[in-house]
Amino acid sequence: MKKTGIIQLRLAEKCMVCEERQLKGMHVIDAFLCESCERKIIESDTDDSNYVYYLKQLRKIQSHSGMK
Ligand SMILES: [Zn+2]
Repeated sequence: MKKTGIIQLRLAEKCMVCEERQLKGMHVIDAFLCESCERKIIESDTDDSNYVYYLKQLRKIQSHSGMK
């Protein structure tokens, strides 16, 4: 029985910013943030419109976890 494909599929999580399934990333509360989005947030200037976008996406998690 070949299990590798199943394991990879289960490890891939949907990033809450780009909404792509990624294997690597970190968890913020109960949401998942992929490596590339994490890097974009870190590298973003606070005046950058991308930064504002990511903050909005992060707020979605906060409101989501608050409903529990
Ligand atoms: Zn992402």
